[in-house]
Amino acid sequence: MDCLVAGCGLTGSVIARQLAERGAQVEVWDRRAHIGGNMYDYVDEHGFLVQKYGPHTFHTKKKELFDYMCRFEQWQEYKLTCGAVWNGQYTPTPFNFTTIDTFFPPEQGERLKGKLKAAFAGREFATVVEVLEHPDPDIRAYAEYLFEKDYAPYTAKQWGISSAEIDPSVLKRVPLRFSYDEGYFDDSYQVMPVHSFTRFFKNLLDHPNITVKLGVEALKHLRVANGTLLLNGVEITAPVVYTGALDELFEGIYGHLPYRSLRFEWHYTEQGSIQAAPVVAYPQEAAYTRITEFKKLPLQDKAGSSYALEYPVPYSEGQAMEPYYPVLTEESKKQYAKYRKLAEQIPNLIFCGRLADFKYYNMDQALENALNICKAL
Ligand SMILES: Cc1cc2nc3c(=O)[nH]c(=O)nc-3n(C[C@H](O)[C@H](O)[C@H](O)COP(=O)(O)OP(=O)(O)OC[C@H]3O[C@@H](n4cnc5c(N)ncnc54)[C@H](O)[C@@H]3O)c2cc1C
Repeated sequence: MDCLVAGCGLTGSVIARQLAERGAQVEVWDRRAHIGGNMYDYVDEHGFLVQKYGPHTFHTKKKELFDYMCRFEQWQEYKLTCGAVWNGQYTPTPFNFTTIDTFFPPEQGERLKGKLKAAFAGREFATVVEVLEHPDPDIRAYAEYLFEKDYAPYTAKQWGISSAEIDPSVLKRVPLRFSYDEGYFDDSYQVMPVHSFTRFFKNLLDHPNITVKLGVEALKHLRVANGTLLLNGVEITAPVVYTGALDELFEGIYGHLPYRSLRFEWHYTEQGSIQAAPVVAYPQEAAYTRITEFKKLPLQDKAGSSYALEYPVPYSEGQAMEPYYPVLTEESKKQYAKYRKLAEQIPNLIFCGRLADFKYYNMDQALENALNICKAL
């Protein structure tokens, strides 16, 4: 073996493939029983392709990243639409003029749309923060209404804090549209696999120089002692690509890094459709944030529907739960920096991916990082 890769998600699998194509013998381990990391999908008992770890669509502005994905799977154009429901009424998200028509009386709505068009002339959208800070009281009141009905309760559930603690500045990247246009992303490439994300991974890992071992906890074999990596107690000098969490690798010596986790509650109905979009937020529900209806992600034309309710929960290591979202605070960033410093001192350790970097990455960012790491190796 020329290289060991811990983690068979997008980061680990892409690095394994790149190295294998250069002639290296690569072994990939994952503690889970499947390939694909959080992008793993499978056909459930009702015949629907579902995503075990929540809704994923691939989107990027970069052609070279899309081209890379095309080497291992065919892709169909797919523009994700999302929505939110409160007071029993549906609106698309990001909020647009349909939102105003739905929740405001016609006369007030027309006036508001006119004011927004004039105030943000020539722009398709602005961030919620810009609208919240606008001098016109009607425009501000619109953003405050959305904040109270949707953003604050949603964010509070997501992070396990009270609505009153939500600082509106967290919305500085959340867009509000000034038209009837729908769609979640503006990227030039927005796609879903023709077969599945898992098929993409099967093809990516299908190389004579790659051996995949599933159900293998890397940290049962891999340890750090005196700044060197030990494999089953013996120093390993070959490169080790580690895509797990750094606090786990260093046995939590600086404490555990904080994460939020998710619990998915799976349902099936004979009904043809349960909601207007594949991913819909329910800010007034006490415990779950959103529902994903998989027959719409991508479109699967058959009777019945499989869907999952998403409950944010605190993460605690060692329980049967996954670390999904890093909780980024000044303190956790400092704590992570200490682990990173230790990791940087180990010359044959290549740590990367959303866990080892303690960052939220979209798939295209994870892919780009993985390709850049291989260029540098
Ligand atoms: C709910 C949700 C929705 C998302 N939706 C989108 C989306 O729509 N579009 C988008 O672009 N991105 C989306 N993402 C982000 C996307 O999931 C990530 O970009 C991508 O999965 C990152 O890949 P990775 O390989 O870095 O991490 P992962 O996919 O987490 O892979 C890491 C792998 O390492 C394994 N591992 C960790 N530690 C060990 C160990 N000690 N021993 C053995 N194995 C180990 C894990 O089991 C895992 O399989 C979403 C993420 C979440 C949580």
